[in-house]
Amino acid sequence: MARFIFITGGVVSSLGKGLASAALGSLLQARGFSVRLRKLDPYLNVDPGTMSPFEHGEVFVTDDGAETDLDLGHYERFTGVPARKTDSISSGRIYTNVLNKERRGDYLGKTIQVIPHVTNEIKDFIAIGEDEVDFMLCEIGGTVGDIEGLPFFEAIRQFSHDRPRGQCIYMHLTLLPYLAASGELKTKPTQHSVKEMQSIGLAPDILVCRSEHPIPEKEREKIALFCNVRKESVVAAYDLKSIYEAPLAYHNQGLDQAVLDAFDINPAPKPDLRVWEDVADRIHNTDGEVNVAIVGKYTQLEDAYKSFKEALTHGGMANRVRVNVSWVDAEVFDSEDAAPYLEGYHAILVPGGFGERGTEGKIRAAQYARENKIPYFGICLGMQMAVIEAARNVAGVSAAGSEEFDHESSGKKRFEPVVYHLKEWVQGNAKVNRKADDNKGGTMRLGSYDATLTAGSKVAEIYGSTAIEERHRHRYEVDTAYKEQLEGLGLKFSGMSPNGKLPEIVEWEDHPWFIGVQFHPELKSKPFDPHPLFKDFVRAAKENSRLV
Ligand code: GLN
Repeated sequence: MARFIFITGGVVSSLGKGLASAALGSLLQARGFSVRLRKLDPYLNVDPGTMSPFEHGEVFVTDDGAETDLDLGHYERFTGVPARKTDSISSGRIYTNVLNKERRGDYLGKTIQVIPHVTNEIKDFIAIGEDEVDFMLCEIGGTVGDIEGLPFFEAIRQFSHDRPRGQCIYMHLTLLPYLAASGELKTKPTQHSVKEMQSIGLAPDILVCRSEHPIPEKEREKIALFCNVRKESVVAAYDLKSIYEAPLAYHNQGLDQAVLDAFDINPAPKPDLRVWEDVADRIHNTDGEVNVAIVGKYTQLEDAYKSFKEALTHGGMANRVRVNVSWVDAEVFDSEDAAPYLEGYHAILVPGGFGERGTEGKIRAAQYARENKIPYFGICLGMQMAVIEAARNVAGVSAAGSEEFDHESSGKKRFEPVVYHLKEWVQGNAKVNRKADDNKGGTMRLGSYDATLTAGSKVAEIYGSTAIEERHRHRYEVDTAYKEQLEGLGLKFSGMSPNGKLPEIVEWEDHPWFIGVQFHPELKSKPFDPHPLFKDFVRAAKENSRLV
């Protein structure tokens, strides 16, 4: 039976609750416990799948095909535990479930209310799979006091009430602002935030206080006294150079010990932190740097490409180089030569994306990389752009394009669909169908699929295998109609779906490193286990920078 840790935030948002949860998960693992992390989001969207990356950052896809919050990416990167559909839920989904049950008559005509129907739905969700792990860490999105969050806070209050004493604890993240004028850290916002929690029946066991300055002993005592937590349970969270220092930093501040104390786990198993010590060593002891351009569309909000940046960092750690990522807006060179914008980068990555905007620029970036033998990594849309580039500029199919950009409703066809809209495919042993009028959410090829790699190809060598599994999230596919022609010209389709119908990977021969993949390898990379493609891509960038 799992112990539950509920993680909430107060004072301001963006304090790094997700990171603190993930780091705590990894510390509990280091002490030999099994963990699962879960995110409960109060917003009303049914899932983040249809939310704009500009608004909400990237959509993180799980093996079982859920489109989830990017915090699940942190959870996986820190614990290595693959997230599942049942690890992310929003108010929208909770209400949908409740209303569906009501329509089906499951509530036998009762009046449906937030308490107990919505809160029960939340509690049921929290408990899913509790027998599988030692600790279940549940993070509540937003901050205490948000109207939307109330049913979640009420549910976690009831949850602990329903359970035997000592099975649940609450960890609350707050901010200690620094007043430069008086040179003081202020504890009042934290006190207010805890009061807010207490007013809804919750009392934090652990307080994690974000602070830009060391917390003096006196202030720590004050927080403990006013907020009714033990002094050792007031844990400081200082700014870090890298997020991957968080597990060691939290350990040094006593977070995992405070958690074990709160559960009365005595004696506490000793932690084995070697993995994180090695990670920290790789961050601090680098031998040079490489400059990588991410040529995309959502360049104003870095969170939109969170996992790409992290996977590149992991690749850098594997090669002991610092990876400097520049965000290059593809739209700028939609109708001009890309060279002046891309010169000087040691490698180019074109990430996933939706819609036509900026795609001409991405095609030009692929052309620049192919012609100048610059390492190119095309991911999902980035692979599709590389194939369109090859079709246009090498195979002479000048109108080559994607069906995604020819709006079915406009009736006009501007492009030769080298990339087409897939309506039926196979997952495992089952056929999946998509109708034109399906809802926007969840109509993609989503989740983990197998691919078969050509023996002797560059990718087979990089993976060290010819059978792989990777995560997908897209509607369109490269058409095999052009496979033979393009392969004859040197663009090898070196990875295919097991039935040979869907291209999964392309690579240019006679190029130091030009690989396009239809899936999202960045989602599976970890600091202690970098994805092989990212590891090798950064190696190629390093070679290109003539460091080796
Ligand atoms: N828009 C493209 C498709 O749906 C690519 C998606 C992506 O890059 N994730 O196929």
